[in-house]
Amino acid sequence: MTGPDDPHRDDLRRILDAIRGRLRKRQFETWFARTTLMSREADVVVLGVPNQFLSEWMTREYRATVEAAARDVFGRPMTVRFEVDGQPAADGTALVPVPDVPAGSGPRPPGVVHGGPGTDGKPGNDGRPGTPTQGPGAPKPLFPPPAAPGAVDAAGRTAAAARAIAGPGSTLGGADLPTVVLQPHYTFDQFVVGPSNQLPHAVARAVADHPGTENNPLFLYGSVGLGKTHLLQAICREVLRRRPGLRIAYLSCEQFTNEYVSAVQRNATEAFRARFRNVDMLVIDDIHFLANKERTQEEFFHTFNALYQQRKQIILSSDAAPTEIPTLEERLVSRFRWGVVAEIEPPEVETRMAIVRRKAESMGLVIPDDVVGYVADIARRNIRELEGALASLRTRATVDQVPIDLALARVALEPLLRQEAAPLGIERIATVVAAHYGTKLADLRSQKRTKSVSLPRQVAMYLAREETGMSLVEIGDFFAGRDHTTVLYAVERVAERVRTDEPFRQTIERLRDRIRSR
Ligand code: ADP
Ligand code: MG
Repeated sequence: MTGPDDPHRDDLRRILDAIRGRLRKRQFETWFARTTLMSREADVVVLGVPNQFLSEWMTREYRATVEAAARDVFGRPMTVRFEVDGQPAADGTALVPVPDVPAGSGPRPPGVVHGGPGTDGKPGNDGRPGTPTQGPGAPKPLFPPPAAPGAVDAAGRTAAAARAIAGPGSTLGGADLPTVVLQPHYTFDQFVVGPSNQLPHAVARAVADHPGTENNPLFLYGSVGLGKTHLLQAICREVLRRRPGLRIAYLSCEQFTNEYVSAVQRNATEAFRARFRNVDMLVIDDIHFLANKERTQEEFFHTFNALYQQRKQIILSSDAAPTEIPTLEERLVSRFRWGVVAEIEPPEVETRMAIVRRKAESMGLVIPDDVVGYVADIARRNIRELEGALASLRTRATVDQVPIDLALARVALEPLLRQEAAPLGIERIATVVAAHYGTKLADLRSQKRTKSVSLPRQVAMYLAREETGMSLVEIGDFFAGRDHTTVLYAVERVAERVRTDEPFRQTIERLRDRIRSR
């Protein structure tokens, strides 16, 4: 544990600094932001991570890097291990449930720290339900064995009837649950794996293999078009393939919200609860839609608790990390971090090329290598854009009755290129910032000076200064004719806070990504 007087703290800081220098910024932030130092001996360093899955992952992916960093820091060869630390989250709940492991179910990894309310099966101070019996040493299956033919599931359907509703792995829900037709190509097979999405993909597979064990909830986030829905559906499909009778509720957060609101209006909240608290797996896409929806958050909170307590798998996707969803209640933020939070990053060029090849193949297109490179180079922001580029190519080639080559690609993809080069508009920046803080664009551009608008306004000014070629005067003009000194003051204040306040800096980076990504 690292307290203010902990001698480990300084070692941890030095090790982290050395690691930071060796990794890309995002990599570092994704993987090392929550690392703790569990122990350090003469030549062994034990770093703490939130759960067993991550400890294995970090060992495989980052041990060499961290050992090199530690060697630099301590001036001699060091062995590094990653272990589960069970660190309490900010609200005092353990991040990872560390229950008693039944005898004979495998050794508990050494160095596991027990503690934090909730690990004793009693409610924690945030009302956390009794911790399920699970743990790194004892990944127990979530679900009962598959129902025998003719058995009746929780909804009173026979397994065979459920299978009929579920179809051959392409439809979810039915009966009282939303019916969802899975996209045929949203499968694990069709998902191209590269450094930007390796972890989210690996956890998704682990969840599909063992739902409801240690990666619960699974929280995937990343900007638009990077494969979140693809992975969610791939998990559902795989789980359903193995357990056709399973009751999976798969819905967008918007749908969840609408259904809840309508249940409230119809005085039918009991029925709503019965539906969503009795499923085997709950999958909600685009959970960031909960931003600024207090009552739905409240309802979701109880749904989450009910399912988590029964050790049902919960899977969520979002365009932002839990801490960055505006006005998301702290108790939800902390719950989202009980399992695994994995970011899908924008793919690097090699992955984009692999995706172009894969998609072209499935579209029956023959594309020379230089065109693959060209497409991968200009469609950078998301994968849907790559698909769009390929579709334009195909159309053009069909209309002009010519084979696809570089000259054709240049013509066909010219509009995309122009869009890419267009300067970022201040309007877009202000819109994204306003949405993030839950305020109105009009308010940012008004004379209002309340705190709820002045912070977002300052942030928008700062980002406009960094991301556009606009002068302070022009930026001031956009914000209701403010003086350029006001803009300068705002820019400096935000810059200062970016330097000193790490969560704030991350928020700014996320906003910047979002501004650039559309
Ligand atoms: P998101 O939900 O993150 O906005 P989607 O899951 O809808 O994005 O993905 C957008 C498109 O990109 C889909 O057609 C999806 O199949 C494709 N896609 C995303 N990531 C990959 C990947 N790694 N490999 C292959 N296709 C991908
Ligand atoms: Mg999606």
